[in-house]
Amino acid sequence: MSQTPSRADFDQVMVPNYAPADYIPVRGEGSRLWDQEGREYVDLAGGIAVSALGHAHPKLVAALTEQAGKLWHLSNTLTNEPALRLARKLVDATFAERVFFCNSGAEANEAAFKLARKWAIDTGGADKYEIISATNSFHGRSFFTVTVGGQPKYSDGFGPRPGGITHIAYNDIEALRAAISDKTAAVVIEPVQGEGGVLPASREYLEAARALCDQHKALLVFDEVQTGVGRCGTFFAYETFGVVPDILTSAKSLGGGFPIGAMLTTAAIAKHFGVGTHGSTYGGNPLACAVAEAVVDTVNTPETLAGIRAKHDRLVTRLESIGRETGAFALVRGLGLLVGAVLAEPYKGRAKDFMVAAAKEGVMVLQAGPDVVRFAPSLVIPDADLDEGLARFERAVRAVAGR
Ligand SMILES: *Cc1c(COP(=O)(O)O)cnc(C)c1O
Repeated sequence: MSQTPSRADFDQVMVPNYAPADYIPVRGEGSRLWDQEGREYVDLAGGIAVSALGHAHPKLVAALTEQAGKLWHLSNTLTNEPALRLARKLVDATFAERVFFCNSGAEANEAAFKLARKWAIDTGGADKYEIISATNSFHGRSFFTVTVGGQPKYSDGFGPRPGGITHIAYNDIEALRAAISDKTAAVVIEPVQGEGGVLPASREYLEAARALCDQHKALLVFDEVQTGVGRCGTFFAYETFGVVPDILTSAKSLGGGFPIGAMLTTAAIAKHFGVGTHGSTYGGNPLACAVAEAVVDTVNTPETLAGIRAKHDRLVTRLESIGRETGAFALVRGLGLLVGAVLAEPYKGRAKDFMVAAAKEGVMVLQAGPDVVRFAPSLVIPDADLDEGLARFERAVRAVAGR
């Protein structure tokens, strides 16, 4: 019999690219988690905007276990029913007509950026391959996606980067107008920058990006890995802004904790990914698709989406009041249940301190860069759990701020 693993084991056996907290959760139910010592936490982090229906949601457990007893894996030489059902639902619910499945956000974006370049070169010639992205954006950690991401610290140190990628300031229409040309294959935008600090796009910016892409025959790609599947109060955030992309990527909440990613696009663009141009061993596997179908069925209802918007108001109102009383926050921003408390000047750079203090009080929150405390709870978190989590968070803020 081996001993129960502990946090100390991490440093003995794991590659040191993460610095996990000193407690290890072992069980979850809804928006509560318990660690090895039996301490309870309210989960306002949602596994970084992934656990869309909390932990061990009965519908997801049922979908997973039912599929687990039937069929786990085939391969892409065969198709399967859960993948076809899920794709049909995503097509019916969005602008898209075609879906490509993979296993993560980075893979969904890798597919999107490759497809955009393939489409551009096929339709506009060999010089039409440039990708315009935003500073501070985040699109995943494969070498292509991390280079499209606008945080050089993540792509530094690995030798020559993939080329043809430029970065402009987010929400800057004039910068986009100056950067875009007939050589542009795609403009890539997060409707709300998640990792970059929970910073929403302006409607005018997205509208201008749409118009400029049309003018220069470039594709508009929305990375909705963090903002999609109800997170922002509509099924995808592009609906909130009323601007339709050509390619959309999804992951995170889509699987509710089971790894899956998806790239959505139109039939006319999809046809440039002909047989053999791209692929994934596990993409579209029956287990992942069965779980994601249950997520979509549960999230994409008028009741759940209205609930998300109501919980947004509840969360923001309380955070604003905590901010007023402690002076810790400069402002609270975000959409739906993706909300950031931007730290006031004296607390800049200390988001991690708030996160650690919160865990001490029994509530999990996230940071989004050094200056923003981020909240991405379950989309169906009961109001009582939200209130309890925020009461604990208020104690943590008072402990850090000393008032
Ligand atoms: C998390 C995230 C990704 C990367 O997803 P992975 O599943 O970690 O590869 C890409 N884009 C955005 C906007 C994200 O928030």
